[in-house]
Amino acid sequence: MKADQLLEKSKQYMWLPFTQMSDYEQDPLIIESGEGVRVTDIYGKTYLDGNSSLWLNVHGHQKKELDEAIQKQLQLIAHSTLLGAANVPSILLAEKLIELVPEGLTRVFYSDSGATSVEIAVKMAYQYWQNKGVSQKMKFVTLSNGYHGDTVGTMSVGSIELYHKVYTSLLFDALVIPFPAVYRHPSNDEQVVRDESLHKLRLLFEERHEEIAGMVLEPMIQGAGGMNTMPPGYLKGVEELCKEFNVLLIVDEVATGFGRTGKMFAVEHESIQPDIMTVAKGLTGGYLPVAATFTTEEIYNAFYGKHEEMKTFFHGHSYTGNQLGCAVALANLEIFEKEQLVQQASDKAELLTELLADLKELPHVGDVRQCGLMVGIEIVKDRYTKESFSFERRIAYRSTLKMRELGLLTRPLGDVIVLMPPLATTAEQLVEMVAIVKEGIRLVIEENYGLTAAETMNI
Ligand SMILES: *Cc1c(COP(=O)(O)O)cnc(C)c1O
Repeated sequence: MKADQLLEKSKQYMWLPFTQMSDYEQDPLIIESGEGVRVTDIYGKTYLDGNSSLWLNVHGHQKKELDEAIQKQLQLIAHSTLLGAANVPSILLAEKLIELVPEGLTRVFYSDSGATSVEIAVKMAYQYWQNKGVSQKMKFVTLSNGYHGDTVGTMSVGSIELYHKVYTSLLFDALVIPFPAVYRHPSNDEQVVRDESLHKLRLLFEERHEEIAGMVLEPMIQGAGGMNTMPPGYLKGVEELCKEFNVLLIVDEVATGFGRTGKMFAVEHESIQPDIMTVAKGLTGGYLPVAATFTTEEIYNAFYGKHEEMKTFFHGHSYTGNQLGCAVALANLEIFEKEQLVQQASDKAELLTELLADLKELPHVGDVRQCGLMVGIEIVKDRYTKESFSFERRIAYRSTLKMRELGLLTRPLGDVIVLMPPLATTAEQLVEMVAIVKEGIRLVIEENYGLTAAETMNI
């Protein structure tokens, strides 16, 4: 089919996620192929995959070992159910994962997306206390700006106004503690911000721990909430409070897992032992939808018993433990070992820090936040007051469209431009990516300089 026809049909039939379709109609994009860290659209234009195809991709596209793992599994079977039965790759993958995850996590419950892995974590934590006879523990604590997926349950433990506000009356109530965000805090001091947020958490736990089942958070860095990094020691502080007050710690590693932050899992930065941990995005190297929720033997045992005791976890999805997905996840983890990818990611993160160093010199770049190969660049109207541009200006969105023209794909989160390269990106490609990011921001600001001045005069 001709490219122009595809374009028309995409506008006629598709409804894309997290997309205002009138924007898509104006600036459509259709990807046809990919190789390494580059993808190519139907017109033959090639782009660097600057956000790892939405934070998933690890080794680049068309990685030989991953392609072969799927082909090999296809000669046996594509899918059979995990309800009441196991399958070969899901067992081998479970064993491998348990070797990798923090000590104390001993069981794997599969599903098929980040949202389902967190939905499962929340239901598991809830039912754990019910099964134990501690039936008043029913509430969840979350951090402001947290993101855990788009199902009703995961939105309930999320806290992003733009995405969640319209559904408020549909969601269950969670107890929200302010994320320890340093950039706009009057003290601008990591320790002060950390201690303040931990103090609020302590007060909440002191007052209400008997009703609190668990606390859900993204470790070390919030992704969708704007690439917000935690001050050192904060996560450890949360873990200690959860232990002290008998609250389950649920850690969402969907974005941060599998080397993304320079460690296999972000919890390793502060030697955290969560009660429940979730992974998805990087698990299959960005190939197929497989997710997992890990938990302790203590939690597993609370569900174990005779059928008539009614302790069973009645939750599952049709494609849970899909063989093709588990086979490619196994091959993905083998490459992590063979190529010592976590160490490589950590080294590349250091290079990325150097490359980003002069970005703050650009007018309107307010803050550059980074954890490993996760970067957020916050654009502001005024660097000194840290005031944002008005919502309508869409300055970050327009910058990313400019970057697309220049040959780099990424998406903004509000006023924050995301750079999240695949772990396999080479040093040269990182240089190329950062150069396009800088140029994209510079050009959009330059084009709008007159407007900016006028807007400033209107205050
Ligand atoms: C992306 C993401 C999710 C949701 O994952 P999906 O696979 O899109 O459902 C959940 N938690 C975090 C931290 C994420 O970044």
